[in-house]
Amino acid sequence: MKWSLKELYESFESPEFLRDSKRILTLIEEINAYAEKEFQEVEKAKEKLETYLHYEMEMSNLVSRVMGFANLTMSTDARNEAAREHFSRIAMKLSAITKAEVLFKRFVQKLVDLEEIVSGSAFLTEHRFLLEETKKEGQYLLSDAEEMLIAKMSNTGSKAWTNLQNILTSTLLVEMEKEGEKVSLPLPAVRNLAYDKDPSVRKAAYEAELAAYKKVEESSAAALNGIKGEVLTVSELRGFETPLHETLFQSRMEKETLDAMFNAIREALPSFRKYLKRKAALLGHQKGLPFYDLFAPMGESEMQFTYEEAMDYIVKNFSTFSPKLGQYAKEAYEKNWLDVEPREGKRGGAFCSNLHVIGESRILSNFDGSFSNMTTLAHELGHGYHGFNLKEETILNSSYPMPIAETASIFCETIVVQAALKEMSDAEAVTILEQSISDATQVIVDIYSRYLFETKLFETRKDHPLSVKELCAFMLEAQKEAYGDGLDEEVLHPYMWLNKTHYYSAGRNFYNFPYAFGLLFSKGLYAIYLKRGESFVPEYDALLSVTGKKSIKEVAELMDIDVTKPDFFRDSLKIVERDIEKFLELTKK
Ligand SMILES: [Zn+2]
Repeated sequence: MKWSLKELYESFESPEFLRDSKRILTLIEEINAYAEKEFQEVEKAKEKLETYLHYEMEMSNLVSRVMGFANLTMSTDARNEAAREHFSRIAMKLSAITKAEVLFKRFVQKLVDLEEIVSGSAFLTEHRFLLEETKKEGQYLLSDAEEMLIAKMSNTGSKAWTNLQNILTSTLLVEMEKEGEKVSLPLPAVRNLAYDKDPSVRKAAYEAELAAYKKVEESSAAALNGIKGEVLTVSELRGFETPLHETLFQSRMEKETLDAMFNAIREALPSFRKYLKRKAALLGHQKGLPFYDLFAPMGESEMQFTYEEAMDYIVKNFSTFSPKLGQYAKEAYEKNWLDVEPREGKRGGAFCSNLHVIGESRILSNFDGSFSNMTTLAHELGHGYHGFNLKEETILNSSYPMPIAETASIFCETIVVQAALKEMSDAEAVTILEQSISDATQVIVDIYSRYLFETKLFETRKDHPLSVKELCAFMLEAQKEAYGDGLDEEVLHPYMWLNKTHYYSAGRNFYNFPYAFGLLFSKGLYAIYLKRGESFVPEYDALLSVTGKKSIKEVAELMDIDVTKPDFFRDSLKIVERDIEKFLELTKK
C-alpha cells in the first residue's frame, strides 16, 4: 500500500542522488554563463538555440528527478528532515536560473527569422511551439531593471499580503456550539461541517463561520486590495489589456473560447437551478436551497471497496474503454506506483505526480474504501495516463496548461461512474448522481459566480480600493446572478472572497474559468466517445500526447472540435443536464 520511490533514488545519501543534486548547482552556473555570453549577438542562432534547449532538457530532467524524490518523500513523511532540507535548499538556488530564462526570451524575441531557423533543424522543429511561445512571452517582458525591481518589490508587496492572509485565515478560530458545548474550531474544520449529516450542525457551522469573518474582514480586504492593485499595475506595464487577458495568454486560450463557454453555461443555468430547487425541497426548504445545505449529503452509499477491489473495478472498466488504459492501471498497481492508505505524517487529499524523467507516475491517496474514494483513484490514474501518453515527447514538450490539465482525469472518473450507475439500485444511484451533479454545480455555477465577482473586483479596483461592504455586495450580486432562484437569496455567502485562497495569489488571477473549461472539455470528449466508440480511442491518445505543444484551440481541432463556438460546450452541458433529469425523475414523489 506504499509507493516505491527507489526508481528515482535509493536514498538521500545514495551516490546518484548526491551526484544529481550537485549537478543541478553547477548546471545553473553553466547555463547562466552560457546565456550571458552567447545571447548578446544573434549570429549562429540555430546552434545557440539547440545548445540552450539541451541544457534546459538536462535541467528539467534533473530537477524533476531530484525535487520529485524530495517532494514525494515529504508528502508521505512530513517529518523527513533530509527531504525538507534538500528540497528547500535546491528550490532556493533554482531561482537563480531566471536570469538565463530572461536572456533566452529576449534573444528569441530578437530573432526576426525564427521561423526559418527552426525549419533548418529537426530538433528545433520538434520544439517549434515552445520557441514560438517564448517569442510571444518576450513581447511582455520589461527592461532588466524593471523586471528585477518587480520581482524584489513583490516579495514585500503582493507576496507579503498573501502571507498575511494565510496567517489570518489559518489562525482564525471559529466559535460555535457543538453537541451542547461551546467549542473553538479552525476555519477548515468548520467549513467541512457543510458535509455533515445533521442539518442543524450544517446551519450552525455556516452561521458561526460568517460571524467569525468579522474578526478579519478589514485586514483581508486590505490584503486583497494590495494584491489586486499590484496585479493591475504590473499587468498594464507588461502591455496586457486586462489581467484576464494575461491569464488567457498563460492558459494558451482565446477570449473567443472563453466567451463561447460562458454563453453555453448561461443557457444551462436553468437546469442547474431545477436541481438545486429539488434538493431544497427534499431537505424541506421552500424558497430555494440555503447556502449551508449546498453540500448536504443525500442518501447513503452502501458500496464499499478494499483497495484491491477498487483497483479491480477500475481496471475492468478502464479496459472497456481500451486495453491500453486498463493495462496502464494494472501496471500502476502491480509496480507500486500508488501510496494508498492514510497514515500519520502523510498529507491529506490525493494527487498524481507525473515523473516524465522515468516515464512513470506516482499517486497519493487517502483511501478509506468509499465509492468516492474509488472514483478519486480513477481520477488520479487518469492524470497518470495523460503523462503516460506524453512519454515519447521530450520533457520540454510535456507540460500542459491548466484548462486541459483535467481532461484525462475527469474522463477516467466519468468511465467508472457511468459504469457504476448502470449496476446500482435506484436508491444508491440517487446518492452517486447527486454527488456528481453537486460537484458539477460547483465547477459550473459557482465558478461562474467567482468569474463574475473577480471581473467586477478588477474593474472597481482600477478606480479605488474596495471596502468590505462593496466586496460583500459584489459577491452576493454574483451569486444571485449565477444561482438565480436555485439558492435562497436570503441565505447566500457574502464572504466567499475571504476564504478562497486563489483571490490572494498575484500569479493566479481568474483561477476559476480553467476548472469549468476542464470539466466541459472532458465531458465533451466523453460524449464524442459515446457516439463513435472504438475509433475514438487512438485519436484520444494522440490528442493527449500533443497537449504540451499546441494551443487549446489546436488540441481541440484534432477531434474536429471548434471551441470558439458554443455548440461543443452545449453538448458537454447536455451530459450534466441528462444526469439532472435522471435525478429529478428518481426523486419525484
Ligand atoms: Zn485532478
